[in-house]
Amino acid sequence: QSQTAPLLDQITWNADGLVPAIVQDALSKEVLMLAYMNKESLQMSLESGQTWFWSRSRNELWNKGATSGNTQRIVSVNYDCDGDALLVKVQQNGPACHTGAYSCFYRDGSLSGEAQAQAAPPIEDRFGPLSRLEATIAQRDAERPEGAYTTYLFEKGVDKILKKVGEETAEVIIAAKNRDQDELRCESADLIFHLMVLLREQGIPFDGVLQELEFRHRKPVKKD
Ligand code: AMP
Ligand code: ZN
Ligand code: ZN
Ligand code: ZN
Repeated sequence: QSQTAPLLDQITWNADGLVPAIVQDALSKEVLMLAYMNKESLQMSLESGQTWFWSRSRNELWNKGATSGNTQRIVSVNYDCDGDALLVKVQQNGPACHTGAYSCFYRDGSLSGEAQAQAAPPIEDRFGPLSRLEATIAQRDAERPEGAYTTYLFEKGVDKILKKVGEETAEVIIAAKNRDQDELRCESADLIFHLMVLLREQGIPFDGVLQELEFRHRKPVKKD
């Protein structure tokens, strides 16, 4: 199948001709299992839309769920930076683990004592700050609390907001030209904030922008 060939060529197979595949629940994002694929099982996975692995203990191709019924419908397949690992997102049917546990990683091997106390808090959604910013801007627009900079922008109106978008864009350009990473980080934040205020003023939901990006991602981009 010519469609699947490019992926197969990107993979760095280990000495046994295998590549580890992390299987993740596409919805809950829970990591379900780790198994190995050889070229043939990866090809079969891509063609059938079901997960196929190479069983190292039984030395045979293995269609996950063939006997248990706990099949995995593939949503996406990604490979990592150096092509030596796969991430397979699936729609999981029943438990993924042969013990009956939903995920194979049901056993807690947590850090103990001191290390636990110092453990980093779990990182929330990377784009949480954008979501919160959008909500704050909408609230400022609706309530116009006195003294808030966002209120000031909305009261001044579109021309003021556009002027700020222009200024911040120029500042982004200057920071980038100067290769000043700290400055570029800050000016990018300024630009994103003012752009989001502008979108609000124009009545365009940020989701519309996200959908546009997603839509482009799904179809080949025409260059000109
Ligand atoms: P299944 O693919 O669910 O029909 O199970 C068939 C066999 O594959 C089981 O008896 C196990 O030997 C093996 N197996 C199934 N699921 C896993 C898993 N998550 N991790 C390791 N081995 C598994
Ligand atoms: Zn890697
Ligand atoms: Zn398991
Ligand atoms: Zn700025």
